[in-house]
Amino acid sequence: MTPQQTIKTSIQLSGIGIHSGQPVSLIIVPAKEGHGIVFEKDRHRIPATINQLVATERGSTLKGLAVVEHLLSAVAGLGIDNLLVKVAGDELPILDGSARDYVAALLKAGLVQQTAPKKYFILKKPLVAGPLEARPYDGFRVHFVVNFPVIGEQSLTFDPKTQDYATEIAPARTFGYLEEYEALKTRGLALGASLDNALVLDKNGYVNQPRFSDELVRHKILDLIGDLALLGRPVQAEIFADKSGHQANAELARRILQA
Ligand SMILES: [Zn+2]
Repeated sequence: MTPQQTIKTSIQLSGIGIHSGQPVSLIIVPAKEGHGIVFEKDRHRIPATINQLVATERGSTLKGLAVVEHLLSAVAGLGIDNLLVKVAGDELPILDGSARDYVAALLKAGLVQQTAPKKYFILKKPLVAGPLEARPYDGFRVHFVVNFPVIGEQSLTFDPKTQDYATEIAPARTFGYLEEYEALKTRGLALGASLDNALVLDKNGYVNQPRFSDELVRHKILDLIGDLALLGRPVQAEIFADKSGHQANAELARRILQA
């Protein structure tokens, strides 16, 4: 049996929101077995579950809280089951655009094994959700392919049994096109976006330096892991993804829940 996990001590993190450009801070607190991952904002509890998901454009937004996917990816990637995340703000901080700082903070707090066994969703039959396909598998594995103009195709298989989430996936940053960001900013959106918190592309290729030659597909896997964390427990499945985004990820999570 694999035991449930939480963290040893509370941690504090702060940064700016990519949408608002405003300061955001959060305190992550250990939680008891069976608690799950729950956000708290203005004394309201927002469980990190798929039925709280209200939007999937430019990030995954729960009722009252945007851009939850990178923290949830870090939490799931490290195999943490129970946390209370107190947020002062309407979105989580974008930090450097990846899950690296979340992973570092959680590991610094230290992981602690609890006595109750971890519970899983075990996929029994294949499912399709748009560009995603999930098949029964004894473990968790993702195969992801993306294809972008100028950059070309990137593909990667990630299996946490043999690859390290913290170093292989967590540092991959969110990405976007320079022209798109400029258009969003004129509409009062993406006010916090900058070259410090995204891998930026233009018609000639990368504007800033990628951290991996295939950083785009690594971030797509990061997002998928974060979105599937909304199932509330790890899923045992092998997932094939062809240019998926938050909307299809959420659809797959819903279908897994209903299966
Ligand atoms: Zn992302």
